[in-house]
Parts: sequence; structure tokens; C-alpha cells
Amino acid sequence: LTGLQERLEQSTRQLSELEELLQRRELDRNEENDRVKKYEARLKDIKNNREYQALVREIGFAKKAGSELEEEIARLKESLGVRKEEVDTAAALVEEKKAALAAKKAEADKVVAELEQSKSVEIKRRDEVHGEIPPDIMSRYKLVRRRTNLVVVNVRAGACQGCFMSLPPQLYNQVKRVDALYTCPNCHRILYYEPQDEAVKV
Ligand SMILES: [Zn+2]
Repeated sequence: LTGLQERLEQSTRQLSELEELLQRRELDRNEENDRVKKYEARLKDIKNNREYQALVREIGFAKKAGSELEEEIARLKESLGVRKEEVDTAAALVEEKKAALAAKKAEADKVVAELEQSKSVEIKRRDEVHGEIPPDIMSRYKLVRRRTNLVVVNVRAGACQGCFMSLPPQLYNQVKRVDALYTCPNCHRILYYEPQDEAVKV
């Protein structure tokens, strides 16, 4: 869109430059036409043949200049027409892209609003669950949570699935027994064991 808008601005600038040039040439042509009229009116009053010839020559110059300007004006009008079409096309394209972008943004805004909504639902649910957890476990949880989003991880093949370090065999067996809450000695994440994890692996 930015690229299109820049091109449109450039074309619009060129268009107004052409319009100005056309206006200047039309003024020049009018001047030449006025000069011809003025000289032709003066012709009747001239008695001296030499002065008469000189004025006729001046009229010829002015007419020639006028018709050259006329040709240039026609050329300018033609390129002005082409340029106008370019500007109109570019402007229509810019409007089209703007509308498409606005539609995309509205869609994205809707998704964001929905996410915000479910986020607040989840936060509320989290706070409710937090209340049910013993304070000492909660403080262990919060300590790790400061570093990472992944606080509670399973163990698989004797390794913590948070940091992937092997656990001491005794600790691994304790975790597998699920008789208390254990944490990884390396990353301090809270560990849990799911038998099907190993079953899949074997
Ligand atoms: Zn770990």
C-alpha cells in the first residue's frame, strides 16, 4: 500500500506540473494571438511602405509562434489525458487495498478480542486453582515460574523433560512412586510421572 501511495503521489505531482505548463503555454498563445490582432489593426493606419512590410513580417512571426504553441498545447493535453488516467487507476487501486486492509484488521481485532476474553477466563480459573494449592508448593512453583512458563514437567527415560538432564536413579524411582512432590535438582521444575509416556517409548 505504501509503495502504491508513493507512486500515486508521484503521478499526481507530475499531473499538476503538466497542468501548470499547459496553463503557461495557453497564456503565451493568447499573447501571440493578441499581438497578431493588435498589429493587424495597426496596419490600416500605416502609410509608409517600409513600415508596412516590417509589421507584416512581425505578424508572420507572431502567427508562427502562435501555431507552434498551439501544437505544443495539443501534445500537452494528450499527455495530460494519459497521466490523468494513470492517476485515476492508481487512486482506485489504493482505495481497494485500503478497504482490503481494513477488512483484515477488523478480522484480526476480532480474534484479539476473543483471545483477550479467553485469557481473562483462564486467568480467573488459574487464580481459583491457586487457592487450593498448599502455600509451600505454591512458592516453589512461583520461584520457577519467574524463569519459565513451563514449571511442571514429566519425567521420561530417567530424564527431566524441562531441562533434559538425567535424574539420579533414586529420585527417578521416587518420582515414579508418586508418593510426594519432587523437583528437578538441575532446573527446579516440579516433576510428575505418567506411565503411558514410558509405555509409548518402549
Ligand atoms: Zn530439570
